[in-house]
Amino acid sequence: MTLAHRNPKASYRLAGRLASVGLGLAVLVTIAALVHGQATRAYLGETAGRAGGTVQLATTALDGYLERFERLPPLLADQPQIRALAEAPDDPALIAQANRFLKDVTGVLGASDIYVMDAQGLTRAASNHDLPTSFVGGNFAFRPYFSDAVQTGAGSFYALGTTSLKRGYYFGAPIRDGGRVLGVVAVKVDVDAVEATWTGAEYQVVVTDPQGVVFLSSNPDWRFGRTRPLDDAGAALLAATRRYADARLFDLPLTAGAGPDGHTLWQMADRGQAGGERREYLAVSATMPDAGWTLTVLQDTAPARAQALTLTVGTVLALALVAMAAAVVLQRRARLRDRLVLQAAAQAQLETRVQERTRELAAVNEALEAEVTERRQAEASLRRAQDDLVQAAKLAALGQMSAALGHEVNQPLGALRNYAENAVTLLARDRPAEAQTALERILAMADRIGAIARRLHTFGRRPGQRLVAVDVADTVEAAQEIAGPRLRQIGVDLSVALAPDLPLVRAGPVRLQQVLVNLLTNAADAVAGQPDRRIRLSAQAQGAHVVLRVEDAGPGVPQAIAARIFDPFFSTKGVGNGLGLGLSISYNIVKDFDGTLALVQGDLGGAAFEVTLCAAIGQEVAAE
Ligand code: ADP
Repeated sequence: MTLAHRNPKASYRLAGRLASVGLGLAVLVTIAALVHGQATRAYLGETAGRAGGTVQLATTALDGYLERFERLPPLLADQPQIRALAEAPDDPALIAQANRFLKDVTGVLGASDIYVMDAQGLTRAASNHDLPTSFVGGNFAFRPYFSDAVQTGAGSFYALGTTSLKRGYYFGAPIRDGGRVLGVVAVKVDVDAVEATWTGAEYQVVVTDPQGVVFLSSNPDWRFGRTRPLDDAGAALLAATRRYADARLFDLPLTAGAGPDGHTLWQMADRGQAGGERREYLAVSATMPDAGWTLTVLQDTAPARAQALTLTVGTVLALALVAMAAAVVLQRRARLRDRLVLQAAAQAQLETRVQERTRELAAVNEALEAEVTERRQAEASLRRAQDDLVQAAKLAALGQMSAALGHEVNQPLGALRNYAENAVTLLARDRPAEAQTALERILAMADRIGAIARRLHTFGRRPGQRLVAVDVADTVEAAQEIAGPRLRQIGVDLSVALAPDLPLVRAGPVRLQQVLVNLLTNAADAVAGQPDRRIRLSAQAQGAHVVLRVEDAGPGVPQAIAARIFDPFFSTKGVGNGLGLGLSISYNIVKDFDGTLALVQGDLGGAAFEVTLCAAIGQEVAAE
């Protein structure tokens, strides 16, 4: 699987990058070529300028050097010693005199050689007469400087000496006697000295003759080398004048070409013959019309080319650096763009998720709301059901109460009616004593009904009456007094044990009294008819509370009904004996005092009821 298959976008991007890299390289190469071309031209132009300067100097120096000797031959020709010799060339004394003279002059002027020839060209005297290379006896009639001097009055010629085998520039002047030429004075100028001045690190100097043969050269290997092939006329001329004597001419290892801006470039080896290091030179030439020479300065182009290359490489490197920097910047930008795109995508994804979650939450919320509504409805219906139940319980209680009340009231009412009828009958029969008894019973019945009514009145009491500080001992005493007749009737064995220094309690004195009476009466009912009829009333402080306890030796409260004895109208005493309101009322009274009433385990074997009350704080007046 290729990259293109996997990700076409990435492969397009890769192709784009490759294309831009290719384009960049092409631009770089083009710029490099342009810079190289321009730099080469500029540096070669500079080189050409330097070569031009060198050419100027070299030609001027060479011309000046030769000119110094140009006028010497005519001057010498007029000298008496020379003239005398010319007139008598075979006179040994004159020859010797001339030889000495010429040697002296040569030493003074610095010329190479000076010699005197007769009219036939035979050398008669010479400055080097005493050297092995002496010109004396040599005939130089074939040299142009001789023939020209004879014919035109002045001759000059450059050549390799046939005798000395040294290169020189020759000037010739005729020795005249009127119109007749007696001989020729010749001066040979040494050119080696000139060559020695052309030592430049970066350039070479060559002097060529019209046939292109190198006569002078700063590089000795190039001497007598041909810069171009000899034509026939040139070859004939050289042979006739014997300019280069027996020197062997050779073709220089030279390739000439044209550089930018029309410069002449020579590719040439260091050594004249084959081999040697090939170098490129920029050739600038100047002609020397007097001498018939062409002086060429060959400036080495290597430094110029090296400079051009350095500049090009520098430019390319700088451009490459700039391009790399640009590429890095572009890449960073691209990355940043990619990252932004990714971030935007992530943001969008996040937003979508948030929206989804929100929708889900909204749905859950709706479901919850529905559930809550459902619950509320269920609760409402439950409450309704409860209300219904309460209502039913109330009705049941009402029914129970009605039955109890009806029974309680009907019985005395029935008895009361019987006694009343009896009393009427007894009075009619005039039995007043019995009638009085009946009437007394009627009164007792009426009292009983009154008692029932009073109880009902207590049941319907208004809660929340003011609480005060109540003395427990006083209340116990009052209750004992109220319950006294009933206790005595049953024959109860009552013991009262109150802890000394009991604190006052928060309560209503009459209501607390009513509670104690109720508890004592119940205890009495429990022990009634039993052999053991003990009842104990005790009170003691417990922290911030006072606990009152009424316990008896009765049968106690069976477990099965213990939970119900505080319910209103619950009674085990049978119709006519109890309304089942005593404990219920007592419970509510104690609750109103912020206290508790509870059935606890007693010590006397029967039931035990505990009333826990809060100790009173501050001095409240006991009044209700
Ligand atoms: P009543 O005395 O009219 O029955 P109460 O509310 O005073 O009504 O008492 C409710 C019931 O609690 C009594 O019928 C009785 O069964 C039970 N009870 C109350 N006190 C005692 C006690 N000291 N011993 C045994 N049972 C008791």
